[in-house]
Amino acid sequence: MSESATDDAHRVTGGAGPATGAAGRMARDGDQAAAVAGEGTRAVRAGLPEPAKYEPTLPGPVFAAHYHLPGEPTGPYTYGRDENPTWTLLERAVGELEAPGQDGVETLVFASGMAAISAVLFSQLRAGDVCVLPDDGYQALPLVSAQLEAYGIEVRTAPTGGDAQLDVLDGAKLLWIETPSNPGLDVCDIRRLAEAAHARGALVAVDNTLATPLGQRPLELGADFAVASGTKQLTGHGDILLGYVVGRDREAMAAVRRWRKIVGAIPGPMEAWLAHRSIATLQMRVDRQSATALAVAEALRERPEVTGLRYPGLPGDPAHKIAAQQMRRFGCVVSFTLPTRARADRFLDALRLVDDATSFGGVRSTAERRGRWGGDAVPEGFIRLSVGAEDPQDLVADVLRALDTSAA
Ligand SMILES: *Cc1c(COP(=O)(O)O)cnc(C)c1O
Repeated sequence: MSESATDDAHRVTGGAGPATGAAGRMARDGDQAAAVAGEGTRAVRAGLPEPAKYEPTLPGPVFAAHYHLPGEPTGPYTYGRDENPTWTLLERAVGELEAPGQDGVETLVFASGMAAISAVLFSQLRAGDVCVLPDDGYQALPLVSAQLEAYGIEVRTAPTGGDAQLDVLDGAKLLWIETPSNPGLDVCDIRRLAEAAHARGALVAVDNTLATPLGQRPLELGADFAVASGTKQLTGHGDILLGYVVGRDREAMAAVRRWRKIVGAIPGPMEAWLAHRSIATLQMRVDRQSATALAVAEALRERPEVTGLRYPGLPGDPAHKIAAQQMRRFGCVVSFTLPTRARADRFLDALRLVDDATSFGGVRSTAERRGRWGGDAVPEGFIRLSVGAEDPQDLVADVLRALDTSAA
């Protein structure tokens, strides 16, 4: 299919109702259009094998602990902790989305996002190395940080916004960035930070969970690794855990692969297959959810009881300028603060279309008072809202009604 045909198709979806938001608008911007065009097509076909008569389009999950293996134990499939044909197809799919058209890029899938994150950090760093982590990133990072320190690795931290990482890069072996950050939705300049890190000989990994590969492609922006939790919007149905690492450096990726084998943090074949099946609808979900997230953010902006509203797709958001440079879609998460913890709890309780649950990225909207976990430096009334695939007007109405009824 020609790029212009898909661009037209995109324009049609982008122009329908509130979907004129982020994705629709950006699709019309010169180069951005070329980047966006074709992504839906790529998503539906990503990783599929060549058509073979009487074979299914997407082969079912291969359940195997071992494979027939007479003679020398070489070849693609030997033992189930090392390789699996269902992973192979999923890895191809993720690689095609994270690094389309790039040669020499390798993808490895993991049992969860944390398995993927740990695989990069613990396979690349040695005692005496210095690692830079965000101080406002995913809530398990402090646990990882303590473990790295126990192994004699020096951990420095920096906030995500404002590119403050530049001040602590000297002597670092690895720079880890999470952009947009979860849950604060700050954004940093991947290209600028990658150039600075590379000039000092450091590797760069980007947690791409929130953006998904359709929102941002870290390898094209200069990162060495794109790492993500596939538990969130990549698979998008709130029913599996998954993680992945995409990297360009052969040696570095060999170490990540060895780590997966040693630790055994592997996805089950059923999860891998469900993930691959879900990726076919990724573009539709991401476009819909990011357009609705913008509509929700715009509605929240008008409310006096809402403070600290963040959505990188919202013009005027502190992160919007950099986000618009490096992202093609701005994600499905909106965060904001209500005056008190009690008000936030009443608001969550009053929502009918939004489940009070953690995680994000699913087709059913979820929200939670993030402070209930401890760990994140957020106010008591801080809400992380993940916008699902419901009709935008229904969701906006539900959020506004819950704000009204929780006021008393
Ligand atoms: C959820 C999340 C993770 C961890 O992923 P799991 O699949 O839960 O292990 C890592 N990074 C970010 C940004 C996340 O949101």
